[in-house]
Amino acid sequence: MSKIIDGRIIAEQIKAQLKQKAANFEKEKGRKCGLAVILVGNDPSSEIYVLNKIKACEQVGINSFVHTLKSNVSQEEVCILVNTFNNSQDVDGILVQLPLPEHMDQAKILECISPKKDVDGFSPASKHIPCTALACLELIKSTGASLEGAHAVIIGRSHIVGRPVAKLLLDHDCTVTITHSKTRDLATLTRQADILISAVGKKELVTAKMVKRGAIVIDVGITRQRDVVPNRFKIFGDVDFDRVKKVASHITPVPGGVGPVTIAMLLSNVLS
Ligand code: NAP
Repeated sequence: MSKIIDGRIIAEQIKAQLKQKAANFEKEKGRKCGLAVILVGNDPSSEIYVLNKIKACEQVGINSFVHTLKSNVSQEEVCILVNTFNNSQDVDGILVQLPLPEHMDQAKILECISPKKDVDGFSPASKHIPCTALACLELIKSTGASLEGAHAVIIGRSHIVGRPVAKLLLDHDCTVTITHSKTRDLATLTRQADILISAVGKKELVTAKMVKRGAIVIDVGITRQRDVVPNRFKIFGDVDFDRVKKVASHITPVPGGVGPVTIAMLLSNVLS
């Protein structure tokens, strides 16, 4: 039976350290560190994500400036707002909550953010490492396992999760395999993993048969399904948690695993 990695506890520990960092920032600069958040439209999940980020800012002592724009706003208007924050002395980090409405070119908007202030780390020029990749590393480190020479297999090759986490683990001397939707015989590769990270968004993609006994399993994926209660949703990861926990040494749950630590790492990027 594996040890459940509690992302909520790890996030609280990180935020406690960041609180001190935020206080030092305020002492040095004579103002609080600031995060600007742009939310376009009224997607309920995005609204919850933004709310959680604001709450975390308050907890740590970071100012948050939230601007909500209507979903029919033009791309130019969003870029103008981003530019205002780029030039603001009170803003140290800018976050545009994704996804954006379909009529917008997401990449173009992210490129408008000053590389120093792009705390999500989503644009290629950003000076920051994407928060979810940092969260995966923190969760793996929390197990106390040695990374040197460990075989990490990553499912998913996106620019915001799969690729940056692969680079981070490579930088920590793991041997890294990246897999994706065209990978042949995924299970043969995942069964070789000492560390298995799944970042796809497909419920129960990772079964117990795909996991080596004693592996560390980090589940990034999120699938929302309607609950029996009207207007309520249930959240699932990519991993068949109940069965895989019998095989893995450590495993993250969904929810309560990668999500809270991702927010903590966002704040860490704002303060860095
Ligand atoms: P994405 O851009 O859609 O990338 C998904 C990746 O999964 C792609 O590389 C895709 O391969 C691969 N894939 C799809 N089906 C596959 C299959 N059957 N076998 C192997 N690989 C497969 O998504 P993303 O932005 O990286 O996010 C991934 C998941 O993580 C989503 O569920 C997202 O909601 C979640 N997420 C969670 C957090 C958090 O804080 N917890 C943060 C970010 C993202 P191709 O490249 O070949 O298409």
